[in-house]
Amino acid sequence: MSEHKNFRIRWGMAIDLDKCTGCGACVVSCQVENNNAPLVDASDKERIVNWLTVYRLENGKSFPDAEVAYLPRPCMQCGNPSCVPVCPVVATDKNEEGGIVSQIYPRCIGCRYCMAACPYHVRVFNWFDPVWPKGMEKTLTPFTSTRPRGVVEKCNFCHQRWDMAKEKARKDGTDPMDLPEGAYVPACVETCPTGALVFGDLNNKDHKVSQLAHGPHARRLLERLGGDPQVYYISRRDWVLDLLDNHLAGEAGHGKAEGGHHG
Ligand code: SF4
Ligand code: SF4
Repeated sequence: MSEHKNFRIRWGMAIDLDKCTGCGACVVSCQVENNNAPLVDASDKERIVNWLTVYRLENGKSFPDAEVAYLPRPCMQCGNPSCVPVCPVVATDKNEEGGIVSQIYPRCIGCRYCMAACPYHVRVFNWFDPVWPKGMEKTLTPFTSTRPRGVVEKCNFCHQRWDMAKEKARKDGTDPMDLPEGAYVPACVETCPTGALVFGDLNNKDHKVSQLAHGPHARRLLERLGGDPQVYYISRRDWVLDLLDNHLAGEAGHGKAEGGHHG
């Protein structure tokens, strides 16, 4: 683990697992926003480059007591990111301004140490150069670079959107480091049709995400590993909260977890 630093702004996300329907709209908007090449053959796993994955959770019971939940998983932007200290060329770092963990593609040498170190399987390696089927290259956005074969990439909370929000604030003569709530949100948050994703500054008590993160129904994924994620999950169901920290059947938790999870 790296040295834990404190920042004035800590961008974070709260994800309500009782609101998420697993529709996948967040995944699609993430791919479009960040210029991830369209998937031509979903069975070719090595070509899948997703920054955000939605997992299905089950409570392990039979009908009529069976329940499912859907868990969208972006990068946790860990306060104590295990991916950062293992990188031999400082191609990934904890951003001093907003606590976002960066990925600097031109520096990455593709050793994949960071992938091994991340407990959330967030990072993906480009085994191939990205290919856009004819005509679909028109969907490329000018705000994000594409990544070549041989480098690792991952979710960065749509960092380019923060840059644009800061630029707008400068033009408007307001403080770019004191953006109003909603001035900067990642594409997935903007797209979610059920309002399951909430984004803002965890250090700002007026931001909804900060209130949700401190609420009684909030937990973090594998919290006991000590990575200090900046993504919080909300659920009013004990079995869901138990699965978030990988509580085993019989282990003391918030409820009685019997279920498993499936990607
Ligand atoms: S979730 Fe993984 S890739 Fe993201 S900051 Fe944490 S350790 Fe690094
Ligand atoms: S868009 Fe919203 S509801 Fe759909 S999968 Fe993502 S978080 Fe869930």
